Amino acid sequence: MCMNLRRFCSCGRNSAYLSCRDNLLPAEILVNLFCPECRPGSITAATMLADCGWVLEYDVDRAQAYFTLKGIRSPATPDFIFDAGYLSWQGLAPGDQEVNTRLHQRLAPLIEQDLALYLQSLRSEWVAHVARLKAAGWRKAQAT
Ligand SMILES: [Zn+2]
Repeated sequence: MCMNLRRFCSCGRNSAYLSCRDNLLPAEILVNLFCPECRPGSITAATMLADCGWVLEYDVDRAQAYFTLKGIRSPATPDFIFDAGYLSWQGLAPGDQEVNTRLHQRLAPLIEQDLALYLQSLRSEWVAHVARLKAAGWRKAQAT
């Protein structure tokens, strides 16, 4: 099960959809979320992870306490928390949820006209979207 939440960045101009794998970490473990417009000048690797201009800052000590409690052996580094999906983008990038919703809305008229074409378009447009994310350097897209 995955609890999904929307979180605004520090400056409030942008937001991201996040997912918490197994609901293991509470959302407050992400102490700060910065968009490309409000990101700090330098990154503290011990607590922060940068992804295409966005920066996620974690409370790694508290995350470590949750991991220890649940018997997760990997150290609670920002890389591990993000890559293992314990507090990470929902989908592959901050705006994926909205992209997906817009895509479904745009193609919806096709459902009654040609269901096969609808499904095919949905798939091919999403594949193209993921390819764009990958080319842009988004971290989670690299693994696809
Ligand atoms: Zn911001």
